[in-house]
Amino acid sequence: SCTASSDAADRGRKDESAVHGVSETIVGVLGGGQLGRMLCQAASQMAIKVVVLDPLENCPASALSYEHMVGSFTDSAAIFEFAKRCQVLTVEIEHVDVITLEKLEEQGVDCQPKASTIRIIQDKYLQKVHFSRHGIPLPEFMQIDDLESAKRAGDLFGYPLMIKSKRLAYDGRGNAVAKSEEEIFSAVTALGGFNRGLYVEKWASFTKELAVIVARGRDNSLNCYPVVETIHKENICHIVRAPASVPWRIKELATDVARRAVTSLEGAGVFAVELFLTTDGQVLLNEVAPRPHNSGHHTIESCLTSQYEQHLRAVVGLPLGDPSMKTPAAIMYNILGEDEGEPGFFLANQLIRKALTVPGASVHWYDKPEVKKQRKVGHITIVGPSMGNVEARLDTILKDEKSDPH
Ligand code: ATP
Ligand code: MG
Ligand code: MG
Repeated sequence: SCTASSDAADRGRKDESAVHGVSETIVGVLGGGQLGRMLCQAASQMAIKVVVLDPLENCPASALSYEHMVGSFTDSAAIFEFAKRCQVLTVEIEHVDVITLEKLEEQGVDCQPKASTIRIIQDKYLQKVHFSRHGIPLPEFMQIDDLESAKRAGDLFGYPLMIKSKRLAYDGRGNAVAKSEEEIFSAVTALGGFNRGLYVEKWASFTKELAVIVARGRDNSLNCYPVVETIHKENICHIVRAPASVPWRIKELATDVARRAVTSLEGAGVFAVELFLTTDGQVLLNEVAPRPHNSGHHTIESCLTSQYEQHLRAVVGLPLGDPSMKTPAAIMYNILGEDEGEPGFFLANQLIRKALTVPGASVHWYDKPEVKKQRKVGHITIVGPSMGNVEARLDTILKDEKSDPH
């Protein structure tokens, strides 16, 4: 019907004489970071062609993709050009130019999940408004426009007060805590000021953070991965334990909240739902990611269908796979840059080498163009017969070299 889709059809025809993959749909992924890279890994197993759009020539997904278009997922012209090269558009990051996705959808381009979903998710305040309208339990929240309204929110919600930027948040960059009214100003300044678009959330006194990945197929079939526990350090995901060790009732509650949240959004794919388990036994939604997620890295080794394969199955319209665990326990450890450049690489590499000696441990290296402080550069997943077992194995990897008798 439009230039984009007829070009895409031409592209498909070129391949008609060749042997086909499991699906002939060429998948376009906005973003070529580690999530894009792991999508490419899953795609290669089924010979599904993945093209990625990322501004970095040597982004993590580049070498593993069928094709890498160098360009920005926030650049309208680049996205229009990119859309001609694929039959379905998906994302590995929500901070994309959503106005362009909406225009493409109007022209008949297939986006999964839908642009409407990306629009809601990429603005955390809008996301909270959306979920509260749908009756999903979440911490109380309120937009703040100036010091006066921020102080009013503090009076209402108490301290500590979580201040968040509405947009472009990841790994806690975009969050600042005010422990008292006096700290509001510095917290707001650290976030770039009120003009950046801020809101506040009531502090969630949680005993655990949980996450549930929900998959939805193009036929609206739905399934959920086992509930996991996520442990954050300085706002960055540090460790994921699968399954979460919480009572059955809590697992059911968490899965129900996640399923309801995803049902309120449109489109196919996997969605990660981050949750708080509060001291009084409530499950509150923190945020949703409309894509594969850090809390689901473990699924590569521990589940019958990885979240990456599941996302591809969902967006191209194949039947969803079984999300059940095939091992009793798994633990995932994020490797963050501890230093810049070569020294940072060396430290991360030492951890990887140690992990290679541990039974049940799998190492993932994202091959980022450079190692930076506090940035994810790889991860280790350990599978085994019990949580105690995989935790002990992780401890042997993390154990300080100096305390090693050898
Ligand atoms: P991500 O990398 O998951 O996208 P993000 O930058 O979007 O992170 P959030 O998920 O909003 O940040 O918050 C990061 C972490 O900060 C949470 O996992 C939780 O540990 C803590 N946190 C967030 N909101 C609250 C709250 N209202 N009360 C207490 N702690 C919170
Ligand atoms: Mg986030
Ligand atoms: Mg988060």
